Order: sequence, then C-alpha cells, then structure tokens
Amino acid sequence: MRRLWLEQAFLPEGWASGVALDIDGSGRIAGLAANAPLADRETVPGCVLPGLPNLHSHGFQRAMSALAQRRRAAAEDFWSWRGVMYRTALALPPDDIAAVTAMAFMEMLERGFTAVAEFHYLHNDSAGAPYADPAELATRVIEAAAQTGIGLTLLPVLYSAAGPNRPPEPGQRRFITDLDGFLRLHAATAERLRALPGAVLGAAPHSLRAARAADVAALSGLLPEGPLHIHAAEQTGEVAEVEAALGARPVEFLLREAGVDARWCLIHATHMTAEETAGLARAGAVAGLCPITEADLGDGIFNGNAFIDAGGRFGVGTDSNVAIEAPAELRQLEWSQRLRDRRRLVLADSARDGGSTGAALYRAALAGGAQALAQPIGAIALGCRADLVSLRRAGTDLAALSAETRLDHYIFAGGARLVDHVYVAGRCLVREGRHDARAAIESRFAAALRRLEDAL
Ligand SMILES: [Zn+2]
Repeated sequence: MRRLWLEQAFLPEGWASGVALDIDGSGRIAGLAANAPLADRETVPGCVLPGLPNLHSHGFQRAMSALAQRRRAAAEDFWSWRGVMYRTALALPPDDIAAVTAMAFMEMLERGFTAVAEFHYLHNDSAGAPYADPAELATRVIEAAAQTGIGLTLLPVLYSAAGPNRPPEPGQRRFITDLDGFLRLHAATAERLRALPGAVLGAAPHSLRAARAADVAALSGLLPEGPLHIHAAEQTGEVAEVEAALGARPVEFLLREAGVDARWCLIHATHMTAEETAGLARAGAVAGLCPITEADLGDGIFNGNAFIDAGGRFGVGTDSNVAIEAPAELRQLEWSQRLRDRRRLVLADSARDGGSTGAALYRAALAGGAQALAQPIGAIALGCRADLVSLRRAGTDLAALSAETRLDHYIFAGGARLVDHVYVAGRCLVREGRHDARAAIESRFAAALRRLEDAL
C-alpha cells in the first residue's frame, strides 16, 4: 500500500488541502481523506491534478514534427503533409518505431498527460509484407509504454483501402490488412498486452476512407468489448468523397449505420452539420479533438459551443505529436472558438468553479478522455487509478493565485513548464519535470531521428 499526502488537490468537488491517499497494489485509490495530517506519508508538493488522458496519438509521427514544415509546392495542405507521413512510416525500422514512440510517451508524461490511446496503424514491413508475428509493431508500442510507464489503451487499426471503392496506394503498404488479417492482429495484440498491467485493448477502423463501410458497421458486433475509435470528418475533401460513395456524410453515416454509442470516440469530427452535431452529442460518444494538430494541418475548427450546448462529451489528443503539451491542447481549443466567433470565454461554464474557463475545459477533457480510453482514470477519487500531475507553486503565479484561478493559469499562461512531479498508478515517473528514463530515451530517439532525416 502506497501512502501519499497531496498538499493541494483538485477533487471532483473542487480544491482541497492536505489530501491523504492510500493506493492499493493495482495503483488505485483505496482511501482518501482531505484535511488529513501528513503523518508518515510521502508528500506531493504543489497543486495536484488528475492526469489528463490523451485520447489520440500516432507515436511514430513524433519523428516528423519538424520534417513536415518546409514548403515545396505552391500550395501545401493536409494531403501533401500525408505524403511526408507515408515516407516517414516506410523509413522507420521496428527498433526506431519503439524509440520514437517512447520519446512521444515520455514527453506526454512530462507535459501533463498520464495515459494515452495509441491509434496504431503500422502493421507490415517496409515492403508491405506481414511480419511473422502480426503484432510485431504493436509490441514496439507496448515496449514504449512499459519503458515510460504511461497508461496505455492500444487501438490496432483496420486500414484496407485508399478511399471508398479505391484500392490501396503503394505508399500505404505498411498499413494494409483485410478484415480477417485485422482480427488475427487484434488477437495477437491482446496476447502481448497481457504483460502490461492496466493496459486496455480497443480497436479502430481508420476512417470511412480507409476501411470498408460494411466492415466499420460490423466491427462493434465482431468485437463486443473495448473502446472503438475512428477518424471522421477531419477534411472537407474526405467529407465529399465519403458522401459521393456512401450517400451520407461521415458522421451521419456512422450514427446511422455503425451503432455509434458511448463505446465510440470520433476523432476530429471537425466538419459536421447542426444535425450531426446534435446526433453525436445524443449518442453519448466522445468527440476526440486534437486542436494543435488540427491547426498544424489546416483542418478547420470544431463547433465546440454548439456541441457542448447539446450535452456533447469531448476529450483531447495529441494526434501527430507535432507539439506535445496537455494544457496547450485545451488552450488551442478555446482560442480557436474565440478566433472564429470574435468572442471570449466561449467554452466556460458560468455555473461551476466560479466560471473558470480552464476548470471547465479540464473537467470535460478528464471525463471524455477517461470514457474514450476505457480506463479507471480522470479523477482523484476512490476507485480511480492514482494518476497525478503536480504543478509547482514556488516561484510561479500559483504561489499567489486563489484556488479557483489555478487551472486558468495552468492552461492559458503557465503551461506545461509548471509540471513538477507525475505519478501513474501511484508510482512517481517524473521528478521536477524530468522523466526518470529521459537520458536513455532521448539518446535512442536522437539516433533514430538522424537516420530518418537522412532517409527522407
Ligand atoms: Zn489521427
């Protein structure tokens, strides 16, 4: 039994002082008391938050964050970025995929995330042939999670085509499986994942572009357990292609044909009609927003106020991992709404936390993220895993600010440089902002990055 004492903690009912936690052998909170004496407990100083879940990542893309920022054509867009991503995917050997993914997971921990849903679509070797072990590359993701200690929900991806009624392109050869191959991969991944305590297995048809509509519709019946994620309506070109082929827009089709419910997380959901927005909220699915990547790729702006007004649930993800930082995702989400509407404090809830915009964003992303990852996380509460992020008070504005402005400072001003200690399942992984395994992870990553830049 681990015994912690949190100087200040953000509980579901609000900030509390002197919070004693008893943590059981599985890393869950088995005892909790506020205004408790320190006694012989290990102190977690500063302001302690539940760690934010990251509901969408492609770990290997961390390697290309700087390599896709050079303009080579008159007009660059999502589709030209995708070409760089395909070349990156083809160039990385399995060991480098593990190295790059470990770097991404370590940075998530150092910058405010404690769990991740990895949307994993690299399955074959560089020639496009399946490995002898279908879970060869999934195993590299599992290794990265084990090395860093992040909470993992692994989502093997079904990727079969270039578009509705279009065969795969050569650049996609590392991703391609048919439904039977995917189900074998899923079973092999389940086997490997048993070695990682607390890990969750879900599944992800890539999108209505890359997975056959009939397979997407069948998947929830074929795999009755675990979360289901899918990219949807990220780009207007994708919406048009799906509508032409299937006679319905992506979110419209998923709501009507795929039985979308609380098991599902629709990644992006950027381009929705008012009916789709209300329908997705009603379905109880999570909108998986990736505001920094969506800005980097020029995707568009999610209709946040209409979705939240309809009772919609959302969380945030780092997606391309171009700039990994938990508070910055929430800041970018709110700022995109302000820029579009020429208003301020758009996603705040005036009825809670004194109207704090930061607290409203953080609470929503905790709940939506926990649902999308299907892990017992998202709150400092009995039964939840002890995933904690402490923010430094000494030498920062947090030493002076009132409790109800703390999350506004973290999200809009202080950012991830405030992150001090980070715990997953009650175990301290990051001390004074630095992961315990940083030296080994960053040197292995640097070697992989040098090889990749030479290869591209
Ligand atoms: Zn994605």
